[in-house]
Amino acid sequence: MKKLLVDLTSGEKIKVKVKDVVIGGKEKVFISGPCAIEDYETMRKIGRELKGIGVHMLRGGAFKPRTSPYDFQGLKENGLEIIKEVSKEFNIPFVTEIMDTRDVEKAIDYIDMIQIGSRNMYNYSLLKEVGKTNIPILLKRGMSATLSEWLYAAEYIMAEGNMNVVLCERGIRTFENYTRNTLDLNSVAVIKEKYRLPVIVDPSHGTGLREIVPQMSMASIATGADGLIIESHISPDNSVSDARETVSIKTVKAIIDKTLLLEKLI
Ligand code: PEP
Ligand code: MN
Repeated sequence: MKKLLVDLTSGEKIKVKVKDVVIGGKEKVFISGPCAIEDYETMRKIGRELKGIGVHMLRGGAFKPRTSPYDFQGLKENGLEIIKEVSKEFNIPFVTEIMDTRDVEKAIDYIDMIQIGSRNMYNYSLLKEVGKTNIPILLKRGMSATLSEWLYAAEYIMAEGNMNVVLCERGIRTFENYTRNTLDLNSVAVIKEKYRLPVIVDPSHGTGLREIVPQMSMASIATGADGLIIESHISPDNSVSDARETVSIKTVKAIIDKTLLLEKLI
């Protein structure tokens, strides 16, 4: 029989610490922020408001994996500096995507949690490279990855020694095209039932439609997700990218409040 590199099914549940935030523990973790880091002032306002409503971590892309090469590609290093500054000012850790193995080294002293985006879940060189660090990793599901391919991707990271992996369900491509993706909550139920890794849900990319982000957030919590990552903005319609799925800060607050109520029932 094949020797397992990492045993993901037996043993204690894995908890991942990002500074003082524990993902996979008792408390549901809320991560929010814009799709892309746009400029310092906007990021600062978003960061201040999100901290004020009890969000645990900020998100925001500096290196943006856009489907079209003509779309905004992110502020790159300048974006990292902006989110780092805001995170420091409001004492709130952040997660941001790294797309290139050459950027991993500089992330080590800089980034609280590295996101591996859906398009890079199959990038085994990148998975191995982040596996050699101790930085917590948010591993998004490939948009056409089966659950086992996704778990193997996690094993690629963990086999290099980095056990700080959090899975993120962000929807898969199906024949349905009314929504941007089909949010596969079956995966969350299976992971919570059978595997040791924490899993959070991204209802923003999972739906592509801001009006159903709250509902799918609640469904995710009811399924047992350890937290949510939600795209938000002080002016959602003016978001530079993914405006259609971006919610207001007020909506994030309503999702947090409802989660607290829902948790009492499950
Ligand atoms: C993102 O979260 O910024 C993103 C690009 O999402 P995904 O990789 O899931 O498409
Ligand atoms: Mn986005």
